[in-house]
Amino acid sequence: MAQFNIAGGVKQLEDSELRFLEEEHVKYIQKVSQDTTSFEMVVMQHMRMSGVYWGTTAMALLGRNLKSDMKSDDIVEFVLSCQYDNGGFGGNVGHDPHMLYTLSALQVLAICDKLDLIDKEKVIEYVASLQNVDGSFNGDIWGEIDTRFSYCALQIFSLLGALHSNCFNLDKAVEFVAKCRNFDGGYGAVPGAESHAGQIFCCIGALSIAGALHHVDVDLLGWWLSERQCDSGGLNGRPEKQADVCYSWWILSCLKILGRVKWIDEDSLIHFILKAQDSDGGISDRPGNMADIFHTFFGISGLLLLGYFSRDEDEKYSRYEDIDPTYALPVSVVKRMNLQPQVLNEPEIAFTPIVPNPRFAEL
Ligand SMILES: [Zn+2]
Repeated sequence: MAQFNIAGGVKQLEDSELRFLEEEHVKYIQKVSQDTTSFEMVVMQHMRMSGVYWGTTAMALLGRNLKSDMKSDDIVEFVLSCQYDNGGFGGNVGHDPHMLYTLSALQVLAICDKLDLIDKEKVIEYVASLQNVDGSFNGDIWGEIDTRFSYCALQIFSLLGALHSNCFNLDKAVEFVAKCRNFDGGYGAVPGAESHAGQIFCCIGALSIAGALHHVDVDLLGWWLSERQCDSGGLNGRPEKQADVCYSWWILSCLKILGRVKWIDEDSLIHFILKAQDSDGGISDRPGNMADIFHTFFGISGLLLLGYFSRDEDEKYSRYEDIDPTYALPVSVVKRMNLQPQVLNEPEIAFTPIVPNPRFAEL
C-alpha cells in the first residue's frame, strides 16, 4: 500500500511496488498545463512559458499525441501571443521579453514543428543585441550576465539556422564560456564563480552546440560530476547539498555528452527518481515532497538518459522518445532539424580517480 504523508499530502510508493506511473503522470501534466485555476498555474504565472515547455516536452517524450493529448494548437497560439515586436518572448502574455523564455518558446515551436510561424530574423536580431564585447550574453535589457544565457543564445541561433552566421560572434561566445572553467573542472555563472551543476550543464551544452568540447577537462569534470551522487542514490548540485531529482538532468546530460554516464551508480539513481513519484502523478525534488511540473519533466528525462525504459520489454515503452542531452528536446526533433551537437565517446580504459576517494579506499 502507498504511504500517505499528512504534512505534505504526498503518497509514496513502497519499494516493493516501485514502477513508473505513466498514466498518473500524463494526467498530472495535463492538469497542470490546461487548468488555469490550478495551484501550479497560479504560482508559475510569471514563467508559464517554461511550464509549457516542460509539459509539452515530457508528453512528447512519453510518445503522446500532442494535438489531442496536449491541445498543441492552443499551446502554439499562447506561445505566439507572448512575442514582442523586438523578437523576444516573455514568460506569459504581457510579461517582458527575456532570453530564458525566448528559448523555451522556440523549443516548444520546434517540437510542434511550427518555427515557420515566426519572423526568425527578428528573434536573431534580439538575441544578437544581448551579446557583450567579451562574448557573454545578457538575459534581457537589464544586463544580468550568466552562462545560462550563453547556452540559451547558442541554442536559439542553432534552432534558427544562424549558428555560423555573422550576426553574432561565436568565437567570443565560446571564449567566454571557456573562461568560466574552475580548478575543479566545473563551471560557474561568470569567470571565477563557484562550480554548480546547473551552470555546468549550460556551459557543456553551449560548447556541445558550438562543437568546442576541446575546452573541457573531461576526466576532471567527469569526476566532479560523479562525486555528486549521494548515499540516497540521488545527485546534488554542489558538495554538501541535498540530492534533488532535477540534477538527474543537469548532471546526467553532461555525463552523457562527455561519454561518462557509467561513472555513477545508475540503479540507485533510478530508485531515487522512482521514489520521488507521487502515486497520484507528478515527480518531486526528493522522495516525500510535493510534485511539480519542473521535476516531473527532469525526472522523466533522467530515467530516459539512464536507459530505464529500454530495460523493459513492455510494448508501451517502445513509443517513448529519447531526449537529446544537449538540446533538451526529443531526439526526433533534433534529427528532423538536422542539428548536430558534439558528443564524446565513452573512454576505452577504466576510470581511475584523480583524487583518492574514501569510498574506493574501503574496497
Ligand atoms: Zn530541483
